[in-house]
Amino acid sequence: MRRMVTIAVLATLAGTIGLRADEKTAARWFAHIEALANDAMEGRNTGSPGHRRAAEYVAAQFKKSGLAPAGVDGYIQPVPFKSRRIVEAQSSLALVRDGKTEPLTLGDDATLNLRVDPASALEAPLAFVGYGLSIPERGINDFAGVNLKGAIVVYIASTPRSLPGPLQAHFGSAAERWKMYQAAGAVGTISIANPKSMDIPWARSTLARLQPSMSLADVLDEAPGQKLSVTMNPARAEKLFAGSGHTFAEMLALVDGGKPVPSFALPARLSATTTVERSIIESQNVAGVLRGTDPKLRDEYVVLSAHLDHLGIGGAVNGDSLYNGAMDNASGVAAVLEVAASLGESGVKPARSILFVAVTGEEKGLLGSSYFAAHPTVPRARIVANVNTDMFLPLFPLKLLMVLGLDESDLGGDVRAAAKAAGVTVQADPEPQRNRFVRSDQYSFIKFGIPALAMKVGYEEHTPEAAVAAKWTAERYHAPSDDLNQPIDRSAAAKYVEIVRDLAVRIANRADRPKWNDSSFFKRFSRSPSD
Ligand SMILES: [Zn+2]
Repeated sequence: MRRMVTIAVLATLAGTIGLRADEKTAARWFAHIEALANDAMEGRNTGSPGHRRAAEYVAAQFKKSGLAPAGVDGYIQPVPFKSRRIVEAQSSLALVRDGKTEPLTLGDDATLNLRVDPASALEAPLAFVGYGLSIPERGINDFAGVNLKGAIVVYIASTPRSLPGPLQAHFGSAAERWKMYQAAGAVGTISIANPKSMDIPWARSTLARLQPSMSLADVLDEAPGQKLSVTMNPARAEKLFAGSGHTFAEMLALVDGGKPVPSFALPARLSATTTVERSIIESQNVAGVLRGTDPKLRDEYVVLSAHLDHLGIGGAVNGDSLYNGAMDNASGVAAVLEVAASLGESGVKPARSILFVAVTGEEKGLLGSSYFAAHPTVPRARIVANVNTDMFLPLFPLKLLMVLGLDESDLGGDVRAAAKAAGVTVQADPEPQRNRFVRSDQYSFIKFGIPALAMKVGYEEHTPEAAVAAKWTAERYHAPSDDLNQPIDRSAAAKYVEIVRDLAVRIANRADRPKWNDSSFFKRFSRSPSD
């Protein structure tokens, strides 16, 4: 949406005098959102001038809160990216069956995913592999009986319910899947979303396909050997199964029923040509530190993070093409800024240092946090924990705190204590199949062995709150209507900020460093010897 908000920001800030502490927190939190999700920031796309302005705003706020610069250039850590944009008019997909070529319509039938750098031309056989998972430690082998050598793997992007949530999240990710497919000799992928777990309707998600995709410039090849990545519209997926003796509808029914799904070769080849515009761009992480006071612990760091980037300007929905990203994730950055400001004012002196980081490139695949975790501005071995906030959705009162990673590390105890102090109950992720624990920036830290948590305003399933959250996701998630003009529960936001602040201080003041639980799947990502 477009409107002038500068005056509103000033009015909000001036209006905090005489308010209760939580009202003041809420007002200042929302003023940051008004600044960051303002039309002048142009949707904060990674590498855009709007993102740079937003980064400068965050740096100025860090400074105002008394944080010391912890970037490379003051508060800023420049992050170099390779950017790729599809030239759809010079690209094509077609099914080749019985000597006949059946073109697929880009955008309607399928989209080319440029998070993978595609080969300019490819033709390969198709093999359907159900969930598409090979996890020997769990006795799962969806590849049995099919030859994937030189093939394009076709899979339903779901994970079997028999897997514990964190494993669903980890093995369901595109990066882990590609490791399995590459080991089996595959050359590409066609992923078909399960309509039941699609966050965004196809008609809206397909609008994003013309936006640039990115990868970190200092990573040689993020998906080695992958020549093609296609996302198939589930409503058009029957085309792939024609002549196979199976239908997509049957396969989907098996997935939805929690039943085993067969694997089989599809009697078709996929022919693809892609034309890609490539460029190198730069974006910004922003980092500031509140120095700890304990002589022994002050060189250890608790990282509070939130992603600053959003989707920029893209396909119009209801005549609006500016993706303001107010909840995703100006709200999270605003929470981090307010924690920094209120800690400074409170006079609380944490033992360890608290490092505040706003990262770029989350929407491009957790890239800014990956870069920060790979090139941290403090010694990585000294980062003891990460607490991330991404789209915490204060749409109704905060009574339940949804904690991703609650039972994975002993940070669970800290967050339980912080929630209890605020009169809030904690809740583990009620929908692990949505892969939330690996879908935001905390995962970049987890992969380096750093215990992490992420939190949101929680709700029980089948309640009015669940319906409000589902409606928000269907209507506003990654849509231009995630703007300043939407109903928000400010008192829930204030309570969330209070919990994050308390949690950060609790972790900073712990006698011992946080550690993964022995039972945790994520314990396998131990710290590298170079740490
Ligand atoms: Zn997002």
